[in-house]
Amino acid sequence: MGFLTLIFGTMACGKTAELLKIVSKLQEHNSRCHLRDQKEFAVFKPSLETRDAETVITSRSGQSFDEAIAVKNITELGGEILQHKPQVIIIDECQFFEFGKDNDPQKFIKLIRGLLKNGRDVILCGLIQNCYGGEFEILSSLCHEADEIINPHTTCSCGKTASRTQRLQMGYPTPITDPIIVVDDDNSHDLCYSYEPRCKECWEIPDEAHPHLLVFRQNLDKIDQLKVILDNLRESLQPKTAD
Ligand SMILES: [Zn+2]
Repeated sequence: MGFLTLIFGTMACGKTAELLKIVSKLQEHNSRCHLRDQKEFAVFKPSLETRDAETVITSRSGQSFDEAIAVKNITELGGEILQHKPQVIIIDECQFFEFGKDNDPQKFIKLIRGLLKNGRDVILCGLIQNCYGGEFEILSSLCHEADEIINPHTTCSCGKTASRTQRLQMGYPTPITDPIIVVDDDNSHDLCYSYEPRCKECWEIPDEAHPHLLVFRQNLDKIDQLKVILDNLRESLQPKTAD
């Protein structure tokens, strides 16, 4: 049986830094030992995750790894693993494999159990709890099977330990009626989402959107039109270079 490591915590708690620490240890191991004792590893990430370029994984403290393999869904992930046959499989942002076309938490879990059974070591990184306090199925289901759990914490703005993720839009907490996964990848809109780690006391889940937030949502299209006008204005005000 392979060794299963889970890395989870709130947004911005240092999960990616922990993942990159493992990558760097593997790189060091491979640079020190004979070829036959080296550990082939591969790092995967969902291509839905848009914080970085397709192959790059960057921690908030600035470390990065630029040879990650971006995959659209579980089928693609399985295919890439089969092709590369790594001994150690590292997967970032696992929660994204629970949603969207060809994704399903139980299908993902089945793939991981199969890899472990085949003696591969697996490191999974991501969220175990969504921003409304519910569970993400993949990491919460695999928790009791894990050989190692890495659970970094960060601090809430009030100074207490943060154990929750707060989703904000325009600085206002988003209501419980919003979808759990929102990927701000539509370039035509800046949806102004942000996330921050909070303690249980500071964490807020309103039943409905703040009136200011409602106005913002109703005016997203108008904001886009204004942006175009502003961009055109900015361009027309640029000093003209002499030919
Ligand atoms: Zn707090």
